[in-house]
Amino acid sequence: MAKDTRLAIVIPCYNEAELIRSTTQRLLEVMDELEKKEKISQYSYIYLVDDGSKDSTWLEIAKAVARHPNRIKGAKFSTNFGNQNALLAGMLGANKIGCSAVITIDADLQQDENKIEEFVDKYCEGYKIVFGIRNNRKTDDVIKKTTALAFYKLMHILGVSMPKNHSDYRLVSKEVLDVLAQYSETDLFLRGFFHEIGFSTTSVYFDVKPRKVGKSKFNLLSLTALAVNGITSYSVVPLKLICVLGFILMLFGFTTGMWAIIAKLVWNDSPNGWATSITLTSFFGGIQIFCTGIVAEYLGQIFREVKKRPRYLIEEELN
Ligand code: UDP
Ligand code: MG
Repeated sequence: MAKDTRLAIVIPCYNEAELIRSTTQRLLEVMDELEKKEKISQYSYIYLVDDGSKDSTWLEIAKAVARHPNRIKGAKFSTNFGNQNALLAGMLGANKIGCSAVITIDADLQQDENKIEEFVDKYCEGYKIVFGIRNNRKTDDVIKKTTALAFYKLMHILGVSMPKNHSDYRLVSKEVLDVLAQYSETDLFLRGFFHEIGFSTTSVYFDVKPRKVGKSKFNLLSLTALAVNGITSYSVVPLKLICVLGFILMLFGFTTGMWAIIAKLVWNDSPNGWATSITLTSFFGGIQIFCTGIVAEYLGQIFREVKKRPRYLIEEELN
């Protein structure tokens, strides 16, 4: 029953003191409307995670909780662990408190909150994950836009397919939160995770608004770190490329070596020692990279093993 859906709206907050009041107010309005339409239960709530803010964010969260003790909950990190960990803590925290589904959204409400209803509708239709996809990147500057698109393209080439312009605005059902709890890896790349695990999924398209107060908490460095984590935690293709490159260089070295020897023997037109040097350098260079590539293959195996990801995930069971 739709009206039994206990929705938790999870918000990661880093130095967002100025926004907590207006954001929670607006989201409570959205929740009121959904409650009136009997789409979510009266026990739905907002869960704010303070990611070790340096301003008075936690104080503002505490005030919000005091104003609406049944509808707003909060947690505070001891220091800044980053947006991905704040999202993770929010989702797992809400799952522990109890919920049917979680929607994650940014504190600045740049992502259109009016779409929450559409996310809930999709959940009621039976989808376990609903991805929020940005209609455009109008609010991003040229650098952010280009790097983001390049990242999605690279991920696609490396064999990790996820829709471009996909964001951390998404709905995740309780079943998927239980699966998430089984993943113990330290640097879980959420966008990769939600695409990899399967389950019935769909998308909701939304517009991005400009940030009303404050600045973006991300810079090129933190975005690059996120992208590198995304690539290295979901793809071993870069490791495999070393092997392929080494093999090609080895063949190249072997061919040039043969050619150098033939040139020396047949035409005798190269200086003394040249053939030997070129042969040895190119051949051993190739062999070295090829051997590194073989080590990289084993490294890839270790990498997959240490992550201890579950070997399979069951979406439904009929007993
Ligand atoms: N955020 C966080 N920890 C951080 C950086 C950001 O929890 O270390 C939160 C931030 O408060 C916001 C969300 O992540 O709710 C997205 O951040 P922001 O709006 O600055 O990112 P952008 O819109 O530029 O992608
Ligand atoms: Mg933002």
